[in-house]
Amino acid sequence: MPDGSPNPQAKHTKYVIEGDSLIRKSEFCPICGPGVFLGIHKDRKVCGKCGYSDPPKTYRGIYQEEE
Ligand SMILES: [Zn+2]
Repeated sequence: MPDGSPNPQAKHTKYVIEGDSLIRKSEFCPICGPGVFLGIHKDRKVCGKCGYSDPPKTYRGIYQEEE
């Protein structure tokens, strides 16, 4: 229930204001577009919505044929 404290997971926490500039702390997905952030992992960035991965899943041979 609401207790008046801000939600630390809210999307606006992905931004920080520096001077008069708005700095994005996360990258947007190039497939889904602005508003969908990429999840930052140790060695890659992954979109949780469309599955976009940078670098791609072929990176370091992780990807295997699924058909
Ligand atoms: Zn996406």
